[in-house]
Amino acid sequence: MAALGKLVDAILTRDRHQRVRLMQALFASLLMCCCVLALHVAAMFGLVDDGPIWWWSGASVAGLLVVVTLIRSGVNRKFADPAMTMQQMLYATLCAAWAYSFAGVAHNVVGIILAVILMFGMFGLSSRQVIWLGFYTLGVFGIVMALSSQRNPEHYPPGEEIVYFMMLCIMVVGVGLLTVQLHRMRDRLRRQKVELGAALAHIHRLATHDDLTGLVNRRHMQELLENERMRLERSEQDWCVALIDLDHFKSVNDLHGHAIGDEVLRALSRHAHTLIRRTDVLARWGGEEFVLLLPNTPIAMAMNSLERLREHFHAHPLVVQGIELAVSFSAGLTEHLRGETVAQTLERADKLCYQAKTLGRNRVERG
Ligand code: GH3
Ligand code: MG
Ligand code: MG
Repeated sequence: MAALGKLVDAILTRDRHQRVRLMQALFASLLMCCCVLALHVAAMFGLVDDGPIWWWSGASVAGLLVVVTLIRSGVNRKFADPAMTMQQMLYATLCAAWAYSFAGVAHNVVGIILAVILMFGMFGLSSRQVIWLGFYTLGVFGIVMALSSQRNPEHYPPGEEIVYFMMLCIMVVGVGLLTVQLHRMRDRLRRQKVELGAALAHIHRLATHDDLTGLVNRRHMQELLENERMRLERSEQDWCVALIDLDHFKSVNDLHGHAIGDEVLRALSRHAHTLIRRTDVLARWGGEEFVLLLPNTPIAMAMNSLERLREHFHAHPLVVQGIELAVSFSAGLTEHLRGETVAQTLERADKLCYQAKTLGRNRVERG
């Protein structure tokens, strides 16, 4: 199985894009081989005029194999369209027109081959390219039909050729319209995919972050704490949790109104976020309570971080809508003990925070 995989890699390369292009060119070559075979069967039944069938067969297959070689060697990357779809289509159409000129009684078979070629273009070409290809096809076939009916009116009666050319026009217009529709559908799908991605990112943000402060919300913090516990269950790393509660926050609301209270929560969260380490996570636990997760931090270091934060807010009153407000907090800091649950760690932090309140507020209790 591995040997087969290696062989496929060796033939089709490991580059995903080149692989697709190569597969497409190989598929087109295979279709061309089938068309060659079909014309040879027609020749066997005596339906084809004496002509250059072998030259045509060689040139048709060789042309598409040149494309396969260019893609396999990577030369195709120099082209504006590395899939070389337009080149393949122009060449295949030319070959079809050549076959038409000597297919004699069987020349109507070529129309079916041409339909296959044009449908191939619907997927690989832009709408504009398909329109150009349509004009090119009508031009080339128009000339070949006119010359054939002049040279061999027995097998190419002029009336039949005119009707046939009209059918060709209808087919080219039909394929053109279908291509435009297909591209519109593809664009819409692409746009919807981008919109869906953005919506999912937005929903994820809403589900994991708090609306007011933009901090991680309680549900997501609970997940992060649980992840941290599982990750470090068998490790020597210490990690701490602090429960932070703003002091006398009710009086901020009572004095300045709920809207200012909201602004204070927002400003405080913004500031705190810039003061903690990048690896620490601050969450809004609810109301005016916050939880700080300090990964890979011994409790002494965590204490320093919290004291720095506390002193900062004590020394720098927040300015909200021109109002200067001194906001302090009380916090309970504790280390997660191996073997205990997150809920047990949080309960200890909560008790320590309560202790900080009873001991006079604006302080951090550790334990
Ligand atoms: P302390 O914690 O120091 O004991 O006093 P406190 O006044 O902060 O405590 P308490 O728990 O009695 O009151 C918390 C207040 O926080 C009550 C509520 O009005 C306010 N609060 C909670 N959530 C919000 C919010 O989202 N916006 C605003 N503006 N206020 C909030
Ligand atoms: Mg509270
Ligand atoms: Mg409070």
